[in-house]
Amino acid sequence: MTGLKRLIFLTNDDGIGAPGLQCLHRQILAAADWQVLVVAPDGERSGAGHSVSLRRPVYVSEHNLNSLPGRAWAVAGTPADCVKVGLAALTDAKPDLVLSGINRGANLGTDVFCSGTVSAAVQGAILGIPSLAISLNAYEGANYGLAARVAVRLAGLILCHGLPPGTMLNVNVPDRPAAAIPGFALTRLGSGAWLNQVQTRVDADGRSYYWLASDPSAVANETGTDHLAMAEGKVSITPIHFDLTHPPALDLLGEWDLGAAWRALG
Ligand code: MN
Repeated sequence: MTGLKRLIFLTNDDGIGAPGLQCLHRQILAAADWQVLVVAPDGERSGAGHSVSLRRPVYVSEHNLNSLPGRAWAVAGTPADCVKVGLAALTDAKPDLVLSGINRGANLGTDVFCSGTVSAAVQGAILGIPSLAISLNAYEGANYGLAARVAVRLAGLILCHGLPPGTMLNVNVPDRPAAAIPGFALTRLGSGAWLNQVQTRVDADGRSYYWLASDPSAVANETGTDHLAMAEGKVSITPIHFDLTHPPALDLLGEWDLGAAWRALG
């Protein structure tokens, strides 16, 4: 009767060997009667955003994920490649959910534009599958257990209620015990980016290069945002749609004399 089981497509951007993905995989098998198909990058692709591999081969190899049941594939490509290739070639069944994570480090506000974790889930939404990206706000000694339980619980709600077409949920979990978390917060993306610091450094050969660092303390925590929820120790849930059109700007552009601009092109 396995054909009746829900199929979860599990991916990430930290790579198939990342502890966040393995913890989430284990939690799904322990807590839910779902099938899991793992299709994840063969190494870390954090910061890959929605990039895809064009004009080069994308190799896929079967991977033994600690002898856990279900198939796992390592993809020599980006997180978006994993979703595209996985759905097209590695399963005959359409998954019920694309689950991306658990990422090592939060994905808040404008982070979503460079996040491979979020982009994999957006790719799932583009291909018509309800999708969830989940990230833990920690880098060192990260404890993924709570985030994994949150992911499975929210996945269950998505499977029960569905999501509007083209929508994914971007979820961030604070790095603290459940007892110290007030609860969920429905949020919008914060506009304040982390303060990206471009540092100039010098390598061993005396050549200068640039190092992109970021300072999470430099974020403005506006009302209703994922940044504020994280600062308050809550689990943020931000629904995201891939249609990035800004309707107020369309109205403003309608007041420009584009007809004259076109005629001036001669
Ligand atoms: Mn990552």
